[in-house]
Amino acid sequence: MEKLKYEKPVISKITAGVPSKFGLPAKQKIISEIDGTKVSDLIEEYGSPLFVFSEKTIRNTVAEARRAFETRYPKVQFAWSYKTNYLNAVVNIFHDEGSWAEVVSGFEFEKALALGVNGSHILFNGPEKSAKDLELAINNNACIHIDHFDELYLLIETARKLNKKARVAIRVNMDTGIYPMWDRFGFNYENGEAWNAINRIMLADKLELIGLHTHIGTYIMAASAYAIAATKLANLFMATHRKFNHWLKYIDLGGGFASKNTLKGAYMPGAETCPSFDEYAEAITNALISSEIPHENLPALFLETGRALIDDAGYLLTTVLANKRSSTGRRNMVIDAGVNLLFTSFWYNLGIHPSQPTSEYMEETTIYGPLCMNIDVIRDAINFPHVKTGDQLVIERVGAYNVTQWMQFITYRPNVIMIDSNGKTRIIKKKESLETFKNSEAKD
Ligand SMILES: *Cc1c(COP(=O)(O)O)cnc(C)c1O
Repeated sequence: MEKLKYEKPVISKITAGVPSKFGLPAKQKIISEIDGTKVSDLIEEYGSPLFVFSEKTIRNTVAEARRAFETRYPKVQFAWSYKTNYLNAVVNIFHDEGSWAEVVSGFEFEKALALGVNGSHILFNGPEKSAKDLELAINNNACIHIDHFDELYLLIETARKLNKKARVAIRVNMDTGIYPMWDRFGFNYENGEAWNAINRIMLADKLELIGLHTHIGTYIMAASAYAIAATKLANLFMATHRKFNHWLKYIDLGGGFASKNTLKGAYMPGAETCPSFDEYAEAITNALISSEIPHENLPALFLETGRALIDDAGYLLTTVLANKRSSTGRRNMVIDAGVNLLFTSFWYNLGIHPSQPTSEYMEETTIYGPLCMNIDVIRDAINFPHVKTGDQLVIERVGAYNVTQWMQFITYRPNVIMIDSNGKTRIIKKKESLETFKNSEAKD
């Protein structure tokens, strides 16, 4: 080993600043660059507002999640939740990292096929599957996760018509201590509906039951809820074996891990309070390996993690349009990105940061988007330094759900770029223009 070089000792003053109500330093975080590229350069080249995704962050987050589960359980398979973010460039990174596809509509199914995903690696969820969608899924050997009895009967009819076997699982809803319970999707565990569905599937000659699925909710702060879910699915798994001498191939615990965003009304910042992948993995794998299931028959563990894998990799760069005062003297600021681009601002207190050094003085501020619409509020109360018109800000943790739920209201959707692992930038979705609309609208 090389001898370390001598360095002169130094005494540096601790500048922790005044604690905020959380006891954390009230220092303003500045984000001047993303993966080594300056925010001002990105805006100059691609415009404002601008969505930026970091390939490096995506790959690092996936690696962290995989490690947490793969070191604790013998067979783990992630499936990328398309509705969380289905930009091709983003989806392709997840597939490159070994993820299957988790889709909830015919559109998403077609998208996965078009991206070259093998049909047997597509998990087809959701309450809306038409006869045509089911045909496509059966013909491609997909894993069809049945949501309700009407879908089950339609599937039996469709499989008979095609004279092909359909590979199926059921979505199970259950009481895991998380309320309100998401019992609008799937078959209920406690009232026996799920067990009834399993029996009907086992009786149907054209259906092959291969797994059990649940998705207990989203942004679940209690890892223990997953332990309850895993235990209940393990019970169904064993009951299926006992009655039919049939081992299922997988147990799918869906998505729902919290990202590091802070929910509205939360006292502490999300980054401090959300369970880590390790904590979720510990709860789930403990429940499975300590269940009645013999170890040689342990099913594959499927995970459909969405927001926790992509939120941190997405940024929205925005520019200050105006500073004003309300009639009561409260500080208001208008920026060029609104709720049209930030659907998640309805649930989260998104982190907004200057991209250049600012004055140390902060004032409680309301940050508005640019829309001519009263609900266009990005933060109703944030302690924010004084910034000028034209200054650039960075909104962090916007990688999940915004570029799928964004709306086209009075303006064009902006460019979306990717910073690849080598630090090179490229447009992955082009800004809209009048042409976008001319192509699909009638002239009169
Ligand atoms: C939305 C969804 C997911 C992803 O959920 P996250 O909360 O983003 O992890 C996974 N599975 C199903 C069935 C979903 O509907």
